[in-house]
Amino acid sequence: MTWNRSLLREVLSVEEANVVSKIPISLSRSPDQLIWRLTKNGLFTVKSAYHLLGEMKNLYKKRIKESALCPICTRDSESTTHALWSCPSAQDAWGLSSRKLQKERVVESPFSSIVGHMFSVLDENDMSTFASIVHQLWKRRNQYVFEGKYDAPETVVSTATKLVLNYKEANRIQVSRDKPVAPSVRSWSAPPLHAFKANWDASVDKVQCKVGIGVVIRDWNGCVVATLRSQRDLLPDPLLA
Ligand SMILES: [Zn+2]
Repeated sequence: MTWNRSLLREVLSVEEANVVSKIPISLSRSPDQLIWRLTKNGLFTVKSAYHLLGEMKNLYKKRIKESALCPICTRDSESTTHALWSCPSAQDAWGLSSRKLQKERVVESPFSSIVGHMFSVLDENDMSTFASIVHQLWKRRNQYVFEGKYDAPETVVSTATKLVLNYKEANRIQVSRDKPVAPSVRSWSAPPLHAFKANWDASVDKVQCKVGIGVVIRDWNGCVVATLRSQRDLLPDPLLA
């Protein structure tokens, strides 16, 4: 007596059919029976089916949770704070940044609180670097997920610093012009799926001797995730201006 292989292949996958065909068949020649594994008596009940569905749902939830692990360190679940701040890969980059940024302790608070804290302790220069590194860390994370490319922490920090310098240089040229210049109109484009975009801008009030900076972080739908504004003294003493 052997398994009906063509029937096995019809109702099971190739792998399953191979496994089942290796199970020895009972020599007692008792008739085939349909057995529902989830009840003691082997008979199907709606209640036991619901129970199975519940278990499957939990398994599915667990899988979703597992797949939300940080793609870089694969140790913790990936929150915004984790990806941009507390992940060892992010800390590698922060460790190479300015001394003030290095000094900030790793905390697991919501990212908006971290940004708020930075605004209260950092000067304009370090805040620009902070925003730029955040931007580069997101870019690196997405490049890794979608293209399998991973930049070294040194590259993240040097690119971020270069962007800030370029921005400042462009801003300096604009401020040094005597007549006010109309801001150039550029259209904003959303970042790719699951990416965030940080834009920042600065304005200088020469009369009041103040500089204002603003940062806006938007998600791939263009929805604003966080905005921050800060005003600083351009020079310690207005009379020096
Ligand atoms: Zn991580």
